[in-house]
Amino acid sequence: MKTPIGLFGGTFNPVHHGHLRSALDICHALSLAHVTLIPNFISPHKQHETIAPTHRLTMLTLATQSCQQLKVSDIEINSPTVSFTVDTIIHFRNNYPDQPLCFLMGMDSFVNFTTWHRWQDILQHCHLVVSQRPGYQVEAQSDAHTLLTQHETKNINDLRVNLGGRIYLHQAFPLAISSSQMRQAISENQPITFLTPPAVEAYITTHQLYLAN
Ligand code: ATP
Repeated sequence: MKTPIGLFGGTFNPVHHGHLRSALDICHALSLAHVTLIPNFISPHKQHETIAPTHRLTMLTLATQSCQQLKVSDIEINSPTVSFTVDTIIHFRNNYPDQPLCFLMGMDSFVNFTTWHRWQDILQHCHLVVSQRPGYQVEAQSDAHTLLTQHETKNINDLRVNLGGRIYLHQAFPLAISSSQMRQAISENQPITFLTPPAVEAYITTHQLYLAN
């Protein structure tokens, strides 16, 4: 079996160190070939408006440019419709038919995973690697809890010998940073230094993103 690939979808509005640290940490801990970050065009899960997809894509490229383990895919950005994870996963499955795929997500996403479009097909084609996020946990007797009892593995070797279908909870050092916290700070003229790489902070300043109207 080949080395697993990590896939990390999100809005990244904007990307921050919570995203980047958990992606890199999981890449090392699970010995993934690399992690590909995939910004969506329109999220099925987010109600608020996002800035132009090209800005979010450019900031991700700036944030990851000096890190070989992190790559960026424009597949969802280039498909101007609601971005369903299942379509993206099937695209990667077709391109990598015999390589395990690990879809990364924070615990806030996992607790709602069984509401995602065709979530069973997602889990059929890839593993889920869930990282802790301060303030979120699986509730007893929830759908997420049932799913965990059926699919959880604590053995990372299972992620290499199967192409998909397992769920692994990754105990990362959690960073309580969110994009919404950053957007709020910018709109109140508060600094976002140390929440995101300097190149992203500079890009936001130059393009006057997220300022209050
Ligand atoms: P917002 O605050 O606008 O809702 P966000 O910070 O949650 O955004 P997203 O782009 O929506 O960021 O998240 C993409 C993925 O990254 C999701 O799976 C989410 O759970 C995960 N994630 C976001 N922030 C963190 C963090 N600080 N630690 C671990 N995972 C995170």
